[in-house]
Amino acid sequence: MGILAGKRALIVGVATDRSIAWGIAQAMHAQGAELAFTYGAERLKDRVTPLAESVGSKIVLPLDVTSDAQIESVFAALKQGWGQLDILVHAVAFAPADALDGEFYAVTTRENFAVAHDVSSYSLTALTRAAVPLMEGRAGAVLTLSYLGAVRSVPAYNVMGLAKASLEANVRFLAADMGAKGVRVNGISAGPIRTLAAAGIPGFRKMLGHVAQTAPLKRNVTTEDVGKAAAFLCSDMASGVTGEILYVDGGFSTVGMSFPEPPAG
Ligand code: NAD
Repeated sequence: MGILAGKRALIVGVATDRSIAWGIAQAMHAQGAELAFTYGAERLKDRVTPLAESVGSKIVLPLDVTSDAQIESVFAALKQGWGQLDILVHAVAFAPADALDGEFYAVTTRENFAVAHDVSSYSLTALTRAAVPLMEGRAGAVLTLSYLGAVRSVPAYNVMGLAKASLEANVRFLAADMGAKGVRVNGISAGPIRTLAAAGIPGFRKMLGHVAQTAPLKRNVTTEDVGKAAAFLCSDMASGVTGEILYVDGGFSTVGMSFPEPPAG
C-alpha cells in the first residue's frame, strides 16, 4: 500500500507531460492517491484531459488562478464530487516575457511586478483559503513550488525571484495559520528542469550545464525527483514538517564554489 493510499489530491499546474506538476501527479498516483486536475487555459484542456485519464482521474476543471469566480467553482465542484480534500498541489507561476529579458532594474514595470506576484504568490493564499474548509478533520497538506531565485540573485530570473520570495513567505504565514487546523503547508525549491515555463527564461540551457557541473550529485534533477519528494511531504510520513522549503536540486544550493573533478579511476 502506498504512502498516499486513501488520500485525495488536487493538482494545479499541469500543462504538458514535462510539467513538474505532472511528475508530482505520477508519484502521488503511484503512492495510491486519487487525483483531480485543473488546466490554466482553454488551449491546455486537450493536453491535460488525456494525462488525467491515464492516472484514472475523472475530475478535470478549468482554473485561471487570477479569477476568484473560477477558484470558487473549482472547490464547489470538488465539494460536490469528493466532499473532502487531503492535498493541494500549487505548481503555477507566470511573469510577462519582457520582465525576464534584460537587467532587473530596467525591465521591471509596476504592471509586470503586480502580475508576477498575483499569479505566482497570491494564488497560493487564495487557493489555500478555498481548500481548507474541505480539509477539515483530515491531515491536510498544501505544497507549492519555488526556486533558488527566491533567496539568491540569478541572471534573467528577475521579478520572478521577488515573486518566489513572496511565495516562500506565504508558505510560512499560511503554515502558522493552518497548523491549528491540522493542515501543513510546505514548498519544494526545485533545481532547473526543462519545462514550458522554463523555456521563457533566457540562458536556461547554460543554467542546466552550470548546475550539472557544480551540484554535488553532478546532474540536474528530474520531475520524478521532485515528484517523490512531493509525495513524501504530502504524506503522513512528513506529519511533523510544516512551513518548510525543501531543496530538491541535487545539492546545488549548498555549494559555495564548484569543486574540481575527482581524479579518474
Ligand atoms: P509548466 O509550464 O509546465 O507549468 C506552469 C503552470 O503554470 C502551467 O500549467 C500553466 O498553465 C500555469 N499557469 C500560469 N499562469 C496561470 C494562471 N493564471 N492560472 C492557472 N495556471 C497558470 O512549468 P513548470 O516548470 O512545471 O512550473 C511549475 C512550477 O514549478 C512553477 O511555480 C515554477 O516556477 C516552478 N519551478 C520550476 C522550475 C523549472 O526549472 N522548471 C524550477 C523551480 C521551480
